[in-house]
Amino acid sequence: MSHLWSPVTGKNRFFDAAEPFELISEFGSPLYVYNESIFRARCREMRNLVSYPRFFVNYSVKANSNLTLLRIAREEGLLADAMSPGEIFVEEAAGYTSDEILYISNNVSEAEMRYAIDRGIMVSVDSLSQLEMFGRLCPGGKVCVRVNTGVGAGHHAKVITGGKKTKFAVDPSLFDDMREILRSHRLSLAGLNQHIGSLFMEPGKYLEGVSALLALAHTFEDLEFIDFGGGFGIPYEKAAGQPRLDLADLGSKLDAILHDFARTYGKSIAFKVEPGRYIAAESCVLLGTVHAVKENYGHRYVGTDVGFNVLARPMIYDSHHDIELYRASDTPFSDLYPVTVVGNICESGDILAKDRVLPQAQEGDIIGILDAGAYGYSMSSNYNNRLRPAEVLLREDGTVKLIRRRDTLDDLLRNF
Ligand SMILES: *Cc1c(COP(=O)(O)O)cnc(C)c1O
Repeated sequence: MSHLWSPVTGKNRFFDAAEPFELISEFGSPLYVYNESIFRARCREMRNLVSYPRFFVNYSVKANSNLTLLRIAREEGLLADAMSPGEIFVEEAAGYTSDEILYISNNVSEAEMRYAIDRGIMVSVDSLSQLEMFGRLCPGGKVCVRVNTGVGAGHHAKVITGGKKTKFAVDPSLFDDMREILRSHRLSLAGLNQHIGSLFMEPGKYLEGVSALLALAHTFEDLEFIDFGGGFGIPYEKAAGQPRLDLADLGSKLDAILHDFARTYGKSIAFKVEPGRYIAAESCVLLGTVHAVKENYGHRYVGTDVGFNVLARPMIYDSHHDIELYRASDTPFSDLYPVTVVGNICESGDILAKDRVLPQAQEGDIIGILDAGAYGYSMSSNYNNRLRPAEVLLREDGTVKLIRRRDTLDDLLRNF
């Protein structure tokens, strides 16, 4: 019987009947482990965010594009955002139809834009030059424009995508020029969208962005939809008791704003949101194995097989992920002290957690890295010619399903 130091999954019963050591011995280490019921619960929370009837949740697939999870999201009634032809391709493979996809393009080639147009997929353009391109490719068509109202928010400068210092979206001071381009190509403006940034934990900034976008929307007649973007945060510091985003509060305030707008706009317009992280992050624990424990000039290190090729967020954004320890032997866990948890990549930045307070780890222990379901596998790579891990799903019926196989060595030669 194994020993678990599991302040979070011990309580939320993430693994339920499954056992981390059995999962690793069957599917290898590291391993992305997903919990179906948590994933479905997050889809439903978003679907039920407001009472406004024409409200749609476009899952932002870049957070996690596993085919099985996409099919589940679709079963739960979510639509999909795509950021590239590759995402469109995978969404279609998961069963999404063209009317269920919104292509949020950014600096794309004509061929990429045509890929969406040919499929009858709604395109959101991100600049006036790309609106011109759309007009040339699809005169008389319907288009959506991504707007930057000047409101931005996010957990790190790299994910703030609204406000006055970002490459994204169209500055409203250029709207006269925009109207001229729409007119010259006989385009109709079907929608406005925005995405102010990623990982907000208080409703305030998001609602500020919503109101700013709606104020601009009032100046356009005949919009079919308005899309407020994603960024809904999850508590990454659960072990320290970080509270959840208050969705009930956000939802009731948003609902009032939507009903109000629809009344004055004089038409039952559709509204969309685009959560990525909120849907996928908490449904996953990334398992890895401790292979070395060492002390270097007074600093303790725990060496694992989870390099930044497997989970890039700590390296890119200095992100915090809670970490748990699971042990096969009966050796009890010792007192807690600070260690630096690192991976196996030949770079000094290959750090999962710095000065993290954990029980003393031993070789052979398994670490569980929590909330790894969003921007985890989807940002993984073969750097150092390492193999990307497998993904498994703990299903609601208690079975375990392999939902993506591990890379093989042959995969490393596939493109030569
Ligand atoms: C990344 C992204 C999202 C999703 O962001 P989350 O923080 O994961 O919710 C939504 N919309 C656009 C345009 C994005 O680029």
